[in-house]
Amino acid sequence: MAASKIIYPENIAKFKCIGGSCEDNCCRAGSWNIDVDDDTYKKYEAVSGGFGQKLLENIREVEGKKSFKPQTDGRCPFQRPDTLCEIVIQLGEDYLCETCKIYPRQMINFNGNREFGLSLSCPVAVRLLLFDRNGITFAEKPNNSNSIEANETEAVAFRIRALLFGIISYKKFTLMDKIAYMGVFFKGLDKLPVDEALSLYHKNLYTQGILDEVHNARAKTDEFERRKVLLELALVVSNVIKTPEVLPVNTLNTKLYERLNNFKEALKTAEQAMPLSEAYDRVIVPYINKNAYLFENYLFYQIYFTQYPNGITEYGIGYKEFIGEFLMLLMFGAGLYRNKKSIRDWEMVNVIYLFHRTVSHNKAVRKHLTEVLNNIGSMGEFLSLFGKVK
Ligand code: SF4
Repeated sequence: MAASKIIYPENIAKFKCIGGSCEDNCCRAGSWNIDVDDDTYKKYEAVSGGFGQKLLENIREVEGKKSFKPQTDGRCPFQRPDTLCEIVIQLGEDYLCETCKIYPRQMINFNGNREFGLSLSCPVAVRLLLFDRNGITFAEKPNNSNSIEANETEAVAFRIRALLFGIISYKKFTLMDKIAYMGVFFKGLDKLPVDEALSLYHKNLYTQGILDEVHNARAKTDEFERRKVLLELALVVSNVIKTPEVLPVNTLNTKLYERLNNFKEALKTAEQAMPLSEAYDRVIVPYINKNAYLFENYLFYQIYFTQYPNGITEYGIGYKEFIGEFLMLLMFGAGLYRNKKSIRDWEMVNVIYLFHRTVSHNKAVRKHLTEVLNNIGSMGEFLSLFGKVK
């Protein structure tokens, strides 16, 4: 068994929460749930006096899960006007729930190693990890403290992941070619044993010919059908966004959450929604073509952070869902900024962190996404949804 390692993207070391200066402080509980784990809840039950009572009164339980009830302005009930945390001040950091203690950091054991990452629902993490033209590089050190079990499924996913990193990092492919090549590989993987597929695709990685099938099919795709599917994906996103029922924390949030509500409104009828696919072509596609590095970093990081494709049994379907979610992110961006001629980097930061805060954790997304994607036939048709992305 190989020695266990600690692995992390190098830029993580630079992460520092900017607290009160953050454009969308995560202590805003209105737009998502801040879960209270059972161990912490037990500690809260033992706190006496008025503060103990306040703790329990401000926790709600939905479908067996406890979380903090947001205040009418959307903030966590324990965030003070000066943005400091009342729980920390009254009881100390030990009394923070697990979510608050570690957020936005994530630690996961994978293939015998311990891997660290930052959630893309934090805007500072998005800027730090994704807006780096040098790409994402990893650091590692020996993990001396714990022995971590690995299993065969993880070992296979780890090897596939290495190939995917190679595809995403390959400079001569365009972003679309990288996405397409991943798809061609997964199509092969559903038919071939993993070892054979890996060696075949490693060997062919740098040949253009393998992408011809994809390019030909994309060229034939019907434009109307393309727009229809884009809108269906946008509808999936819109249906799972919980309309923030609360007033935003600051001016920037006001505008952003108004956009979120407008986006939902715009999708109520098909006619209203049609400009959305035009906004995707007008606003998002040129931005991607100018900043392909950012989306390469995004896909690269998502592969790492989600241990993709660990646990996936049908690789072809898993691939469509993985890339389908990426497409939903882009449609989400088109929805937020559909009245603009172009968008800037800080607006794309908003698109990414807000998508990860409001949409990507939602279980319903996966179910609806699969339904929409099941109706798309060939790889070429699927990839044509990206339009003129290069
Ligand atoms: S979202 Fe990130 S930077 Fe902002 S307050 Fe939360 S952890 Fe800090």
